Amino acid sequence: MIFKRLRLPILSVLFIAFTVVGCGNDDEGTTTPPTANNSANQQPLGTSANELLSSNEFTSLRLELAYVDGFRPTQETINLIQSFLESRLDKPDGVTIVENQITSAETAPYDINEIVAIEDANRTVFNNGDEIGVWMFFSDGISASNSGNSFVLGTAYRNTSMVIYEKTFIDLANNSTEPINRTLLETSTLRHEFGHIFGLVNSGTPLTSDHEDENNERHCNVPGCLMFFQTVTSVFNSSDIGDIPEFDPLCIADLQANGGL
Ligand SMILES: [Zn+2]
Ligand SMILES: [Zn+2]
Repeated sequence: MIFKRLRLPILSVLFIAFTVVGCGNDDEGTTTPPTANNSANQQPLGTSANELLSSNEFTSLRLELAYVDGFRPTQETINLIQSFLESRLDKPDGVTIVENQITSAETAPYDINEIVAIEDANRTVFNNGDEIGVWMFFSDGISASNSGNSFVLGTAYRNTSMVIYEKTFIDLANNSTEPINRTLLETSTLRHEFGHIFGLVNSGTPLTSDHEDENNERHCNVPGCLMFFQTVTSVFNSSDIGDIPEFDPLCIADLQANGGL
């Protein structure tokens, strides 16, 4: 079914791209026990969905955008993050993005415990008063879970933590003779991973209708929805920023019933 979309004369690198895994190991969790200080930000994926979506406990959000030199996302991607969060989260006191350039752990490819270690060594933004903190790392290395033609693009792994494997996007862009729109891929991936920390699908935010994919848990069964398990792979043959996938009405209904906008 995937390969039916490959009738166009797509180059080999794009062919490989079509078999990527939009997100990997979302539900794998981590084996690192929380430390006492920042334990509120070291909880399982999905457990802060209501805290992120609603203004009940936190009226603002601060996003720490960490990257190694050379792996910063595009400025357009950064600009798009803010409007996305403001459109879905009830944060009357606003959304703030702070950048943090960090040094490489140089142990890539990274398994999820190495990603956790990088967060624990570098994260500076945590819940503080009525502000909730979120960590997003743009990685200088690929995922250790890549295998063959299957690439992990991003993973949400704690209640307020996610990694975007920026190295994979840069490699694809450098090796393709077809234009690759990094903003489109970055934004589609990070929005999907945000969906997971918002508790989608049926993983922290309760279902308001039956739309969880039985074969791909935590994902939506509506093709084209941002939370469809292969939604990011579907934009690999586009260069149009307008093709960034959106939450479908069923996912939006879940988010709104759990305090979101
Ligand atoms: Zn996913
Ligand atoms: Zn959906």
